[in-house]
Amino acid sequence: MRITVAKGDGIGPEIMNATLSILNAANAGLEYDEIRIGEKEYLSGNTSGISKESWKTIRKNKIFLKAPITTPQGGGYKSLNVSIRKSLGLFSNVRPCLSLAPFIETKHPVMDVVIVRENEEDLYAGIEHQQTDEVVQCLKLISRPGCEKIVRYAFEYAKKFNRKKVTCFSKDNIMKQTDGLFHSVFKEISKEYPEIENEHWIVDIGAAKLADSPEAFDVIVMPNLYGDILSDVAAQITGSVGLAGSSNIGHTCAMFEAIHGSAPDIKGNDIANPSGLIQGAVLMLKHIGKNKVAEKIQNAWLSTIEQGIHTRDIYKEGISKKCVGTKEFTDAVINNLNSEPKTLKKVEFQEKGRIEIPIFKRKKEKKKELIGVDIFVHWSGENPDEIAASLKKIEQNNITLDMITNRGIKVWPNGFEETFCTDHWRCRFKTTNNDVITKQDIINLLSSANENSLDVIKTENLYLFDGKQSFSLGQGQ
Ligand code: NAD
Repeated sequence: MRITVAKGDGIGPEIMNATLSILNAANAGLEYDEIRIGEKEYLSGNTSGISKESWKTIRKNKIFLKAPITTPQGGGYKSLNVSIRKSLGLFSNVRPCLSLAPFIETKHPVMDVVIVRENEEDLYAGIEHQQTDEVVQCLKLISRPGCEKIVRYAFEYAKKFNRKKVTCFSKDNIMKQTDGLFHSVFKEISKEYPEIENEHWIVDIGAAKLADSPEAFDVIVMPNLYGDILSDVAAQITGSVGLAGSSNIGHTCAMFEAIHGSAPDIKGNDIANPSGLIQGAVLMLKHIGKNKVAEKIQNAWLSTIEQGIHTRDIYKEGISKKCVGTKEFTDAVINNLNSEPKTLKKVEFQEKGRIEIPIFKRKKEKKKELIGVDIFVHWSGENPDEIAASLKKIEQNNITLDMITNRGIKVWPNGFEETFCTDHWRCRFKTTNNDVITKQDIINLLSSANENSLDVIKTENLYLFDGKQSFSLGQGQ
């Protein structure tokens, strides 16, 4: 079977060479198409960090083993990792984080958590704008297909691998529309899996609990940003961020990697821990049904850890036996290919790792009624009553100024003089009884704003979907 590999940047080539030599020594039966992506490609003038040819190779082989890459800072380069995940529709990012006590020092010896991170949307849509002198914006996009796919994936994962509980982390006490959708889809889909326990935590206290008592969790599903942050936390508290692998799964393609980055601070010194990428390769072997090879490599890796042969990041006096470099660690894993761990639990992979979930089917469209518009205005004044007076002049028939907020907090009518205001004002125009308006009404409103020299920087329409108000109120409203 042919797969695509990329050696990446920083420690990437060292840990990829290590991983490929283990795969070859274990007779994994793989052939490799190597592509160049990352820093060199960016700096050669390709701002996407990847060539058209490389895209073709990835899409042809469908399975991609990738070492970490460096996104150059400044220069507006987009993260290639995010581009690959999104372009190939790799909606699910699975990151198992397992403690290997007593062989790797950890405060959490009984930890076995799998983080299922949504991988295509949230703030990672990367849609950002500067709108006024003082305010920049990043759009947080959460979609029903995105939520359904990832939540279903988490439950199917739990079902397939005999996990007992799926926990959802979200922040819907604040973000009622976006995180609210994630949580409500979780509630809906959890009903289809009565045999699996389900629970929800607000992400802040959930994160604190995860860092303090990870044994309380099993599978945790969360939106992209929280998953990015908390999977690093979870990996780190097992002993090192260098220990965890990650799979990025879509309907047709899949990419496997380490969760950590390219660690430029230690590159070329033969000290990097290749375990994260080895774990990524084991996840890949399970995904493509090569369970026997996956078992062989995993048991060899566990045996090596158990023998106390440790790279610098996990080496501890009194626990470890020998501090080794990347190459020596790799040789030890290869020497152990016919060994099984004695104290740590040896693995047996019965199930094919691949999880199929149905393609999202668009539901019947809801009844959508336009009842107003939020007009965002760049204004450098300070007194909300002054901007309100200008805005009152552009009211149209039954569409009147309902409120003004600044960074979400209501400042008119009846704001507090203590509230700090920037130059970015959200001015809500709507009908009093939720009467329906037209797009032409909004155009008239905007024309009038223009005639009155109001600097409109963007608008957001206010809708009822199936009669339900589908926008947030101002804080304090
Ligand atoms: P990092 O994960 O590369 O490094 C963080 C710390 O962990 C460093 O001290 C590093 O030495 C250590 N570390 C990481 N992996 C290790 C390993 N295998 N063995 C031993 N120690 C290890 O994070 P960073 O420094 O924030 O990012 C460096 C670069 O990596 C950035 O350009 C970033 O954009 C990129 N990055 C890439 C990916 C990816 O390709 N998937 C993911 C995250 C960051």
